[in-house]
Amino acid sequence: MEHRVLRMPQGAHADCWAGKLMTTVEGAGAAALALLPLPNVSTLSGLQTEGTICVWCGASLVPYTARDLGIRPGPNGVTIFPRGCGTCVGAKAADVYKIHVSACGSCLRNRPCPERTGLRRLASEGAS
Ligand SMILES: [Zn+2]
Ligand SMILES: [Zn+2]
Repeated sequence: MEHRVLRMPQGAHADCWAGKLMTTVEGAGAAALALLPLPNVSTLSGLQTEGTICVWCGASLVPYTARDLGIRPGPNGVTIFPRGCGTCVGAKAADVYKIHVSACGSCLRNRPCPERTGLRRLASEGAS
């Protein structure tokens, strides 16, 4: 892998980090974020569907810990833009990673898998 430094430094400038994330993780990190399961979307508050607070734990989000979870289908055909805090994203990524590696054809054959890479990265970020 050409880019190895993906852990966000403490106090990193949010814009710098966002730019770095876009250029280094490319689709893998975003794809992994899109794999994380949301709570039942019909029970989410407006603050959660807008990404103002963590979709899982309801914590207020600050720019450098919030992770975009991708554009998701919401209730009643609307589109939602949920975000998660670093702790929840790490925990969910660890869960999904365990499920993924036991179910993914590429992973079971020990082939490169961008989803596995992205999930592992997310899980390790959240564990810090
Ligand atoms: Zn959270
Ligand atoms: Zn895989």
